[in-house]
Amino acid sequence: MLTSRAKVVVKKEMNFWERIYLPAILGGTIITIKHLFKRKTTIKYPEVKREISAVYRGQHVLKRDENGAERCTACGLCAVACPAEAITMTASERKKGEEHLYREEKYAAVYEINMLRCIFCGLCEEACPKEAIFLTDRVESSDYSRKAFIFGKDKLVEPVDQRIDVTKRQLPVVLEFKQKKSLSHNR
Ligand code: SF4
Ligand code: SF4
Repeated sequence: MLTSRAKVVVKKEMNFWERIYLPAILGGTIITIKHLFKRKTTIKYPEVKREISAVYRGQHVLKRDENGAERCTACGLCAVACPAEAITMTASERKKGEEHLYREEKYAAVYEINMLRCIFCGLCEEACPKEAIFLTDRVESSDYSRKAFIFGKDKLVEPVDQRIDVTKRQLPVVLEFKQKKSLSHNR
């Protein structure tokens, strides 16, 4: 014996009632009927959707500022913070006349998140000093190729006319923490 917890199992002979199975079938049917009258735990997804938390960590969004310019300055802090190494980007210099497109002098010409690597931990959101990246309550994503799950700016940057509300994620305590971090980053 490898441990003292070993137990010798003896095969028990079935009695008459166990051999005819009827009591077991009856017991199973009673359980099934009881469940028919219980409150259902399943929903008819996708027609019906569950209410999820305001701080649920779903697909990302790259935010624009109040004038519609991209907030991301391609500092790379989100990529450094990402434990799954899911974020890559290429920085570029803003040209004259592009002020309405990019808020800072540097911006992400390419910004990609490999959603198959992402573990939705939210560290990128926490690391961002520019309030540029947020996780959202968007969850649906299905495709046939792995390549389609590398989300570029076309999928990540919010459309100018369809802003994504993230105010519920910006709890005062989170904002205060980020502002302090932004100040120390700019020093
Ligand atoms: S949520 Fe986590 S794993 Fe996903 S991209 Fe952000 S930091 Fe990386
Ligand atoms: S941390 Fe924020 S500003 Fe910096 S690259 Fe990431 S999303 Fe852009």
